[in-house]
Amino acid sequence: MIRFEQVGKEYPDGTTAVDGLSFEVSEGELVTLVGPSGCGKSTTLMMVNRLIEPTAGRILVAGEDVAAVDPVRLRRRIGYVIQQAGLFPHRTVLDNTATVPALLGWKRATARARAAELLDLVGLDPARYGPRYPHQLSGGQRQRVGVARALAADPPVLLMDEPFGAVDPVVREQLQDEFLRMQDTVRKTVLLVTHDIEEAVRLGDRIAVFGQGRIEQFDTPGAVLGSP
Ligand code: ADP
Ligand code: ADP
Repeated sequence: MIRFEQVGKEYPDGTTAVDGLSFEVSEGELVTLVGPSGCGKSTTLMMVNRLIEPTAGRILVAGEDVAAVDPVRLRRRIGYVIQQAGLFPHRTVLDNTATVPALLGWKRATARARAAELLDLVGLDPARYGPRYPHQLSGGQRQRVGVARALAADPPVLLMDEPFGAVDPVVREQLQDEFLRMQDTVRKTVLLVTHDIEEAVRLGDRIAVFGQGRIEQFDTPGAVLGSP
């Protein structure tokens, strides 16, 4: 579903963030990218939805070179969740969730009905939380809205960058559990960045262990834990 072929990224200042990266993610698979800060995880993720353009190699999503896909069409097929959720502060939770469908030109009523359905899916009562603004939610609730928003257009691919990084450990575990339950239902192809090996092991079908700009190991949680 996602295929990296010898992908490299050198930033204009000469920093090589990613170098000769090749790997594949199957349809419906959840792959976690784990490694220390600065090793190229976020860069890798953002090249998939073209927030960053690679300087070498190519990336295929569902067999199509992303460089050849119109970015708007691409982002319809690829949901994106970041730390701190990145919600629009002056829009209600319901409107935040309906953002992508609205951009895609869905009828307002349809977009809002879809948003309500998604809030329900992530465990937020739409009648209660839909009319609120982001600052009226807890950190964990905001992250859930971020996930709901990313899923609103039903993209087959979901990119998540430290999605549970901004909440305390108890809430984090709860969000991880909810996310796994949700993933059982929706079965997206997921790339999830974390610096937390426990999270990587807990969530990943497979784990890509990053070193400086490269994947050092790409295997199941059991194999990664079992290796020296
Ligand atoms: P991670 O997500 O693993 O923390 P990043 O992908 O954010 O790593 O960064 C990889 C490397 O690229 C780091 O050395 C970082 O400093 C560098 N980097 C990231 N963004 C830029 C940029 N816009 N310009 C120059 N260097 C950057
Ligand atoms: P958490 O433990 O997840 O960080 P908080 O202590 O931030 O939770 O919030 C607890 C509850 O209070 C949540 O249900 C949240 O919706 C509600 N809440 C937080 N801030 C506000 C606010 N400004 N207005 C209304 N409700 C709020």
